[in-house]
Amino acid sequence: MKRDAHIHSPFCPHGTTDDFEKYIKKAINFGFTDITFTEHAPLPSGFIDPTPMKDSGMEAEHLIPYIEKLKELKKQYASQIRIRIGLEVDFISGYEQQTRDFLNVIGPQLDDAILSVHFLKHDNTYTCIDFSSETFLEFAESVGTVKEIYNLYYETVKESISADLGPYKPKRIGHPTLVHKFQLAHQQKIDDHKQIEEILQLMAVKDYELDVNGAGLSKKDCKEPYPPLQYVKLADALKIPIVFGSDAHQVTDLHQHYDKIFPLR
Ligand SMILES: [Zn+2]
Ligand SMILES: [Zn+2]
Repeated sequence: MKRDAHIHSPFCPHGTTDDFEKYIKKAINFGFTDITFTEHAPLPSGFIDPTPMKDSGMEAEHLIPYIEKLKELKKQYASQIRIRIGLEVDFISGYEQQTRDFLNVIGPQLDDAILSVHFLKHDNTYTCIDFSSETFLEFAESVGTVKEIYNLYYETVKESISADLGPYKPKRIGHPTLVHKFQLAHQQKIDDHKQIEEILQLMAVKDYELDVNGAGLSKKDCKEPYPPLQYVKLADALKIPIVFGSDAHQVTDLHQHYDKIFPLR
């Protein structure tokens, strides 16, 4: 099996309009046997997206058309590739109930899903930590230090792993070192080794899969996958299923860095 299980789509409000079939055909050409489209789920009801364009998740009314379109494509390409219908669901501290309600409704229609932390809560406001280096640096000032953002991030990821989001809670934790995205912008070397280890241990105990995400390698202020390869090895040793994800928001990025991350698979 050759799998890329974190792929965005024309339904992404901050991605490209590259159509599904372009992604699918590229995956087939590159010998992938299994792909999951994991569009950003609509944000929980009542949550106000703090990003300037408020475009972090798909519009609620696009959800059913997204799923219907994928059902068609899944059938159409069934002899060539396995297509799973998925979502990347945000874990937002304080919105667990809304997220559980959402998953209870939509979960039965999904084949696969990722749970990711992009928003951190501080002083009753939320910040999207992967939006831009400027936002990240401003947030560091309001939280205190970069180190404190890291602490808050890992605490939130742990909360996401332990949260009761019902029977349709995603089985895979998305890019659990996303907080590294701007590490070359702030240039502080934060020692988070223990925190990453703890997260992986918790994932192992609670039976989660790891999204090993190539996108960070392409980000100019990051230059490493989420998580870095030493932790992919650790996850493997802990018997956590590791699942590659290119996190492509355009066809050009599909499968990005697969060969560096999965040299033997
Ligand atoms: Zn995105
Ligand atoms: Zn993400």
